[in-house]
Amino acid sequence: MSQFKVIIVGGGPTGLTAGHCLGKAGIDFEILEARPDLDFPGGTTVAIWSQNVRVLDQLGLMDEAYSMCAPIMDKLNILPDGSKLARNNLPSLTGILLVQSPRATFLALIEVPLVLDMNGSM
Ligand SMILES: Cc1cc2nc3c(=O)[nH]c(=O)nc-3n(C[C@H](O)[C@H](O)[C@H](O)COP(=O)(O)OP(=O)(O)OC[C@H]3O[C@@H](n4cnc5c(N)ncnc54)[C@H](O)[C@@H]3O)c2cc1C
Repeated sequence: MSQFKVIIVGGGPTGLTAGHCLGKAGIDFEILEARPDLDFPGGTTVAIWSQNVRVLDQLGLMDEAYSMCAPIMDKLNILPDGSKLARNNLPSLTGILLVQSPRATFLALIEVPLVLDMNGSM
């Protein structure tokens, strides 16, 4: 391991994914997260679209993602007046199975060691 160390600010999906990539490349890193924990009230469902499925696959996490997350089969776009804009079967459209999960579940999937509560410690 070199003396070089990457500091990542923020332990959201981007920061945790960057940590995985750096870890795989053998580059030392530290993730600093302002919140005391990764989950927060009002979390939303995260849909993992095809480009992110590719990234998870490259990180070797896709089998785990399929076991932790629910598949997305149909996508329905609805206009504000309630009329239907489009309906797509995503596996046939993208050629892969996309998945969704609560944000906390997704963050647990990609969690790497990080320093929490930076606001409290600053
Ligand atoms: C309602 C809603 C639905 C969404 N649905 C989807 C979806 O289905 N699929 C999808 O891919 N995306 C979705 N998104 C977008 C999603 O929020 C982003 O893809 C994702 O959160 C981006 O991750 P991020 O790590 O870049 O940023 P964030 O998730 O915002 O994470 C940033 C992290 O950095 C921390 N931070 C910020 N400043 C500092 C600091 N100075 N020091 C230390 N820590 C700091 C924050 O506390 C936070 O934990 C949705 C967004 C919303 C609002």
